[in-house]
Amino acid sequence: MIMPNNLGRQYSLHAEEYKKKACEVLDSGWYILGKEVSAFEEEWAKYIGSKYCVGLASGLDALWISFRLLGIGNGDEVIVCANAYIACVMGITMNGATPVFVEPDQYDNIDVDKIEAAITDKTKAILAVHLYGQACNMTKIMDVAHKHNLKVVEDCAQSHGNHWNGKTVGTFGDVGCFSFYPSKGCGAFGDAGCIVTDNEELAKMFRVFRNYGSEKRYHNMMVGSNSRLDEMQAGLLRVKLTHLDEFNEERCRIAARYNAEITNPLIRKPQIRPGADSTWHQYVVHVLGYRDEMIEYLEECEIGTLIHYPLPPHLSEAYAYLGHQKGDFPIAERYAEEVLSLPMYNGMTRDEQSEVIQNINSFRS
Ligand SMILES: *Cc1c(COP(=O)(O)O)cnc(C)c1O
Repeated sequence: MIMPNNLGRQYSLHAEEYKKKACEVLDSGWYILGKEVSAFEEEWAKYIGSKYCVGLASGLDALWISFRLLGIGNGDEVIVCANAYIACVMGITMNGATPVFVEPDQYDNIDVDKIEAAITDKTKAILAVHLYGQACNMTKIMDVAHKHNLKVVEDCAQSHGNHWNGKTVGTFGDVGCFSFYPSKGCGAFGDAGCIVTDNEELAKMFRVFRNYGSEKRYHNMMVGSNSRLDEMQAGLLRVKLTHLDEFNEERCRIAARYNAEITNPLIRKPQIRPGADSTWHQYVVHVLGYRDEMIEYLEECEIGTLIHYPLPPHLSEAYAYLGHQKGDFPIAERYAEEVLSLPMYNGMTRDEQSEVIQNINSFRS
């Protein structure tokens, strides 16, 4: 069986390094906010090209705390693509703000030409989600944001180290949010996340907020949360980070093979916007008809696939209260019925890649 993702494979490439680091952390006798977290924050900031990084407990925390500390809440509107992952939307609504959806373009990212039409006098921010590993058009997003005096938060959960016009994503907006959920580019061995920013004051507030709002032990300057990156995850992430470039390059090689060798006319392969690059967090094709049959066929061939995502957030039960209906965002809704994520993981053998390609090409041909 070829699985859509296979975390064990990536782990086994450097298992001894992770085991050594895990034992080091265990033996250290220090498990929360210690030298591993500080070192990882420094190394991640440097890797991304930001001044500051603050380690947090998850990617969702990175999002909702970003909006909270940017002062976005009740009555405010935040623009987000209609085909986003639901966590993006929860990061907005957890603060009482309202998501305003904008349709995706052919690159599966927010259609930047439709952003201005969605701006009202309540709009406070744009959430730029770099979906599937591909950068959004950040030039246009920053232009619109400056023109309308909006904050920009980048959701880089699926984009660890890719670029827009040569500049790493996460460095364009006020805050870049990362998830280190195990399946993400630089995945932890549990839940973890962080923010990056060049704003010193904001970075300081994140540090305070993640630790019950206390700057100094038992002196709480605000009502914060518990969202600390722990020493074990930070230590293991430091090891992962030393291999992130090779992981990204390997996924690019797999994607290049898929691009070159998948020829089934029912498949529309992923398109990359000129100026963007992709780290191929997912290899997402659009199946132009017969998607469910294709999934079933591939399953019979022992090839697992996933759908990112089967239901756009505006149609989710969780967001029924927003009052949206089917037909409100027809492109995002159509994409939900077309998209299919093919197997893509580090440590995927050439034979496994060939099997995926051959079976996709033989479907209904
Ligand atoms: C994974 C993900 C998140 C949430 O991250 P968690 O660490 O699971 O909380 C947010 N946005 C996007 C785009 C994601 O892929």
